[in-house]
Amino acid sequence: MRSHLCTRCGSCVGLSGGKIVFEDKTGKYLPKIISPIDDTLADTLWEACPGKQFNFPEFQKEFYPDAAHFHTFIGPYERIGIGYAADALVRHEGASGGIISAILIWLLKQQKIDGAVVLGMSKTEPWLTQAFIATTPEEVLQGAQSKYIISSTNDILPEIEAFNGKLAYVGLPAQIQSIRKLQRMKHPSVKNISYIFGPFYGNTLHFSSVNSFLKTHGEKDYHNITKLYFRYGEWPGNMRVELKSGRVIELKKFHANYLIPFHILRNSLYCTDLTNEFTDISGGDAWAPVYEERGKGFSMVISRSKKGDELLREMIDAGWLSFDQITEQEAIKMHSHGYDFKKRGGFIRIKFRKWMGKSVPDFGYEIKDFPVSRYLMEMIISSLFILMSTAMARWAVEQFSPKFIGGIFEKTRTIWKKSTHKIKRKDL
Ligand SMILES: Cc1cc2nc3c(=O)[nH]c(=O)nc-3n(C[C@H](O)[C@H](O)[C@H](O)COP(=O)(O)OP(=O)(O)OC[C@H]3O[C@@H](n4cnc5c(N)ncnc54)[C@H](O)[C@@H]3O)c2cc1C
Repeated sequence: MRSHLCTRCGSCVGLSGGKIVFEDKTGKYLPKIISPIDDTLADTLWEACPGKQFNFPEFQKEFYPDAAHFHTFIGPYERIGIGYAADALVRHEGASGGIISAILIWLLKQQKIDGAVVLGMSKTEPWLTQAFIATTPEEVLQGAQSKYIISSTNDILPEIEAFNGKLAYVGLPAQIQSIRKLQRMKHPSVKNISYIFGPFYGNTLHFSSVNSFLKTHGEKDYHNITKLYFRYGEWPGNMRVELKSGRVIELKKFHANYLIPFHILRNSLYCTDLTNEFTDISGGDAWAPVYEERGKGFSMVISRSKKGDELLREMIDAGWLSFDQITEQEAIKMHSHGYDFKKRGGFIRIKFRKWMGKSVPDFGYEIKDFPVSRYLMEMIISSLFILMSTAMARWAVEQFSPKFIGGIFEKTRTIWKKSTHKIKRKDL
């Protein structure tokens, strides 16, 4: 709880019966023990916590024993493809192709589930996220789109346990790792979960990113936010803030990415799971010029379990999803940047942390022996992350218009991506 290993998944808060809370959601967003915890509960929380330990190979064997394919970068899988929801509204409301929302709506309509755990924005504090159980297609869409601030979905484990019926669950990799740990423990809190879905995960940001975004637009108080979106409008969408005064502030998603190095949650740097490897179906953005030029929304879809693949087949046959299968190599090429960040950079950063004598996560596997050039590159990236997260750097960037900084950030990123292209693709 007190190290950078806390993923903020929310499991300890959810399982603690009110003894642990997140007390500072607009600050560090760390769990805090507010009344004594007995040894039995402490043992359960420790076992369910994905921050310190999650053994990838063991869980792969247990949950995907007959996976048709496996790749160290992608995890176990049946099929990979590019697709989108056939329903134009669902596609538009979704972060990319609306695939995850479409799957949840299909499952509700087929009565294969009675509810879906999704992440929406809080009704009482609309600047914060809040997990809830959606029981209608309208509610599923209220939870659509990616939220790029720290969100602790598993704090609603008690509601999941008390729910009368079958559930689908949507979460980020660490949240799902904790759910898988609880399933292995046969813990009652997860007995209602029948399907697990999740978005790819590059990183997430502290709430300070929203504050900073407001400040650069001359707004000082986040309490004035009435609506907050991270992927509003047509894919790839905009970060959009609506305020009590009626003012609306919008910035292209690619420009809003400038907030990442200044406000990234340090734990994102130690997460080595890009494609959400323990779901039934995972979905990411289909980042490629051929799709980006067309707008509208395209997802990369990975079915992992037999159950997930069967579901995908049913939806394609029923005309609910458009899906074009692609090869493993095409998939890796499309997200080579992300794989490099997670599967090389992640392990190098963990090594750096270990060298500094700090606690590190144990994922039960390690990718190593990268060229010296990759270590050097990581030194530069890690130093930049440290430098840019200082109060001084954050202040400095707030003196410029986000459109200007966002534009520079987008251009620098393109140049940097091109100049490091060879190092990154090498042996991917
Ligand atoms: C923090 C974050 C980082 C991401 N990084 C990448 C990346 O680097 N590369 C990439 O290709 N894709 C990334 N994605 C995934 C991408 O943004 C889309 O979510 C994905 O393509 C699925 O799109 P969709 O239209 O099918 O989903 P939708 O139909 O919009 O459904 C998304 C579902 O995810 C849930 N959800 C949204 N945000 C969160 C959250 N923070 N925690 C838990 N559940 C959530 C929603 O409640 C909803 O049910 C990221 C997503 C998130 C949330």
